[in-house]
Amino acid sequence: MQPVFRFAPSPNGLLHLGHAYSALLNEQEARRLGGRLLLRIEDIDRLRSRNEHVQAIVEDLDWLGIAFDGAVRFQSAHMDDYRKAADSLRERGLLFACDCTRQRVARAAQERAVCLPDQPSTDPDGAPLYAGHCLHSPPLPDQPVAWRLRMENALQAVAGHDLTYQAFADDKQTGASRWITRQVAPQRWGDAVLLRKDIATSYHLSVVVDDALQGVTHVVRGRDLEAATDLHRLLQALLGLPGPRYYHHDLVTDPDGAKLAKSRMSKPLRQWREEGATPDMIRTMLGFAPRERQRQ
Ligand code: GLU
Ligand code: ZN
Repeated sequence: MQPVFRFAPSPNGLLHLGHAYSALLNEQEARRLGGRLLLRIEDIDRLRSRNEHVQAIVEDLDWLGIAFDGAVRFQSAHMDDYRKAADSLRERGLLFACDCTRQRVARAAQERAVCLPDQPSTDPDGAPLYAGHCLHSPPLPDQPVAWRLRMENALQAVAGHDLTYQAFADDKQTGASRWITRQVAPQRWGDAVLLRKDIATSYHLSVVVDDALQGVTHVVRGRDLEAATDLHRLLQALLGLPGPRYYHHDLVTDPDGAKLAKSRMSKPLRQWREEGATPDMIRTMLGFAPRERQRQ
């Protein structure tokens, strides 16, 4: 089976060096394994996604010399696919409607933390864990609602399923990176939102559905998304989708170690370009081989 990789930026800003690193690593690994490399634009958030950003992203990747296979997939054009997946979960009693505001969720999490101080009160992203309000007081009909995964029922539904994935990660003994089997702990996400109030999907649901529909075999993305893979693996098991391999790479940092997004290194790729950087300079700076000469 030919490996399939994807680079999946959200068009709510310009690409910076961190994105370039991720795209180049995908390209390098796809080439090494003789695989295909797909480009997916994760534009489900209509308010934050901008057409001009899509254009800039495509242009910047082209400037870097990264060639993608096949057509670009825009998530906004595939809402039906996400709805079908959500319907199948809802029919099995794995989703529930929630009309809570952020404030209500936060307040309930605080209250629960007082009663249950040894339980985690935030999810891996640091957001307050849902304390279950709408399970006991369901929203009135015709209210705008989000749909949350009923984590407890979901875990029961996949009892006995394989909840592991292949991760390219450091071997604790040797310190070298290799493929290891990792067990997931999706319960740390609690009753996660799968369909947002404002958008009839979410990052987690779309990414899992798309990776399967596009036949992605290798997900190469930043370490900041490593914890999300636990939830993704659970959704794959619930939806009967194949689980790709995952390589969560380190995030590009400033020389002083600050995370890229917060540092002066977050300068957009096109600014580097305007200031005279060449694609090969960017590649070399990020630790990749210079571009191969285009064959005539
Ligand atoms: N769209 C996500 C981002 O730009 C990446 C999704 C993924 O690679 O799974 O952060
Ligand atoms: Zn609620």
